[in-house]
Amino acid sequence: MARKKKPLPLFEKVEITDAGSEGKAIARVENMVVFVPFVVPGDVVDIKVVRKKKNYLEGKATAFHSYSPLRIEPRCEHFGLCGGCKWQNMSYDDQLKFKQKQVSDNFTRIGKFEIPQINPIMRSDKQYFYRNKLEYTFSNRKWLVAEEFDGKPEQDMNGLGFHLPGMFDRIIDVSNCYLQPEPSNSIRLATRNYCLKHGFSFYDVKSQSGFMRNLIIRTASTGQVMVIVVVAQDRFGDLKNLMDHLIDQFTEITSLFYVLNTKRNDIINDLEPELYYGKPFILEEMEGLKFKVGPLSFYQTNSEQAHRLYAVARDFAELQGEEVVYDLYCGTGTITNFVAPKAKKVIGIEYIPSAIDDARENSKLNNITNTTFYVGDIAKTLNPDFFAENGKPDVIITDPPRAGMHPKVVEQIVAAQPSRIVYVSCNPATQARDIAMMQEQYEASRIQPVDMFPQTHHVENVVLLTKKG
Ligand code: SAH
Repeated sequence: MARKKKPLPLFEKVEITDAGSEGKAIARVENMVVFVPFVVPGDVVDIKVVRKKKNYLEGKATAFHSYSPLRIEPRCEHFGLCGGCKWQNMSYDDQLKFKQKQVSDNFTRIGKFEIPQINPIMRSDKQYFYRNKLEYTFSNRKWLVAEEFDGKPEQDMNGLGFHLPGMFDRIIDVSNCYLQPEPSNSIRLATRNYCLKHGFSFYDVKSQSGFMRNLIIRTASTGQVMVIVVVAQDRFGDLKNLMDHLIDQFTEITSLFYVLNTKRNDIINDLEPELYYGKPFILEEMEGLKFKVGPLSFYQTNSEQAHRLYAVARDFAELQGEEVVYDLYCGTGTITNFVAPKAKKVIGIEYIPSAIDDARENSKLNNITNTTFYVGDIAKTLNPDFFAENGKPDVIITDPPRAGMHPKVVEQIVAAQPSRIVYVSCNPATQARDIAMMQEQYEASRIQPVDMFPQTHHVENVVLLTKKG
């Protein structure tokens, strides 16, 4: 006989005590951590447990007994549904306090090594409209909010917006998003309205059918705007009419691409976007340096804060003009090119070939001649022969993805004995773990968190490691 599953518990009158690193808040009940979304530290709530894991629980707030003094009214009407800006219900100052705490908790708890005073987190001047790229999905199964049900049995289910967290087949039909400056919202709404008016089918992810699939909008600090329309059916006449309409309505658009994607997934990196109008790239600018951003190029999504972040990395590197610098996980070589004028030479390594093409192109564009780029997996590329061929590094800058560095990479960095290591990270937990592995020979001497993503739990952190003795 099948054993009946024990019902998951309901905890009553629990105080939320912390803001977690994954955007959910934290409560502690019976020595267990419970992650709860859309609540704020200081709220007192009933928590219905919805999932039980080995080391923690996931729950939902089912009733509020009192509201936290930290709460503010979220600005966006999609808050609570959209997964994008989970911290909009806290003031920006409070968000920064929790980010600072996230860094210090990771460095004291996980790190287990001596740390200097952590500098106060660098604020983002823009708390909204700071993103330079957004990707929207067309769907024939939008999520209906309560008002839309009222007295309207027949609903148009087509929408253009963001996926609902945890639901691959449902999207929020976004009416306004505060993340990207205009003309982003206007372009999205005009595209949606045109497609609705002309009866274009919105993609059905379950049956893999329908015409309109994705819309990507990229804006740049130079004012240039790129739009990429992704369709799933080869109907060039209809597509052309839509694109002509966009060019007509938005003189701001400087590059317009389209892509035919008939694959099962939404990824377009393995496809070739076709240029329909304008230039094949937009330009970003930083301290007079120009960066070409193509439809598939990676570029940090908050341009202003990226500049601050890179300036911190360059400051920590203390370059005098004579150093051999390595830039690991260099992406499109933005850091490589940014520090190059202050170094003897800079070597960038990255495993995506098109990113390295962009990196080389950007050196050329800025007349930078002292950079060399290599395509390769850093865990394999970095070895004593490579150091011998390219010169022993005086400074290593490293900016790995969330998972941090492979232990082999950490080993090779330590073996190369640079005087300084500048570790840029979007995940202080893996950063602290990696630094702990280097603590015998390197000491963490400066720590600077930078806020790149207001309204979210994400935090970027730069650590300077200096060689001991
Ligand atoms: N420093 C860059 C981008 C860092 S993002 C910037 O500021 O723009 C991290 C980069 O590491 C990505 O471009 C990713 O493709 C690359 N990457 C991840 N794992 C890698 C590996 N094992 N070897 C080489 N590159 C890797």
